[in-house]
Amino acid sequence: MHYTGTIWRPPYEAPSLLLEVTAGCTHHKCKFCSLYHDLPFKFRMSPLEDVERDLQEAQLRSTDPISMLTARLQGMPRPERIQRAFLTGANPFVLTYERLTAIADLIHRYIPSIETIGCFARITDVALKSDEELASLHRAGYDGLTIGIETGDDEALRFMDKGYTAADIVTQCQRLDQTGIHYALFYLAGISGAGRGEIGANATAAVCGQLHPTLIGVNMLTICPDSELYREIQCGRWQEESEIEKYKEVRALLEGLEIPTRFAALGASNAFRFQGTLPEDRAALTAALDEIIETVQEEDLRRYRKALPHL
Ligand code: SF4
Repeated sequence: MHYTGTIWRPPYEAPSLLLEVTAGCTHHKCKFCSLYHDLPFKFRMSPLEDVERDLQEAQLRSTDPISMLTARLQGMPRPERIQRAFLTGANPFVLTYERLTAIADLIHRYIPSIETIGCFARITDVALKSDEELASLHRAGYDGLTIGIETGDDEALRFMDKGYTAADIVTQCQRLDQTGIHYALFYLAGISGAGRGEIGANATAAVCGQLHPTLIGVNMLTICPDSELYREIQCGRWQEESEIEKYKEVRALLEGLEIPTRFAALGASNAFRFQGTLPEDRAALTAALDEIIETVQEEDLRRYRKALPHL
């Protein structure tokens, strides 16, 4: 399989076939982000020949006994049971309708058991597609996009150079809702800066309240020295929230969400991992967050973040 640089995927895509169709990010400007800094380029599309060769390789595992045994020993799912592909790269949904359709055709030709195709997407990628194109992509299998909206706080979106507004999030996700393409939204606790955590959480709850995400995932801001945000802090133009404020912020988000959805903090940036379904688990999740806020020391949380080897 062709893989370039660090491959990022959400935890719930672990059983999916990871297929490299892009590498890097077309935007590449968010101040807090250094996820794709290990690549020598900003963004690259994989040649379709490489995608086809990877699918042939994945298909081979379902017919070649040695490959099947190797896959089993490595704990990988048997290809004939693979039901989902996850396209890698920061935002493969930016690809044109025609290219995404061609990729779906290849996937279905080589691994017919695959029913759905997911990937990371930016709000601006959705905006590039017409309603008809979105509907056609859905019929081709595209479903379950993962969108790192980060926040519904316009001030933070602007400062971090995310390239869209809260209103854009609502508009584009409502278009996905109308098309039937499901999506998970990711929130970045800490993005609003010191003293503004709950403002950002409330703005995000207001945005999400107009949408139908299958999941609201929480990541916590972890500032790397090679990020633009680190330089902003050094220059005194931005101040980081305390770790406890981040948990208060997550609590405010949880309290403000009135839609039925799953709520989860499962990535490495979270010192405490939790998940549940709203509204049923709201009280239990709130109680767990209260316990963290009241009993865990700021220094311990900070030590966890400093010691993080990898996000
Ligand atoms: S946060 Fe996402 S969109 Fe922004 S630069 Fe990083 S990978 Fe690209």
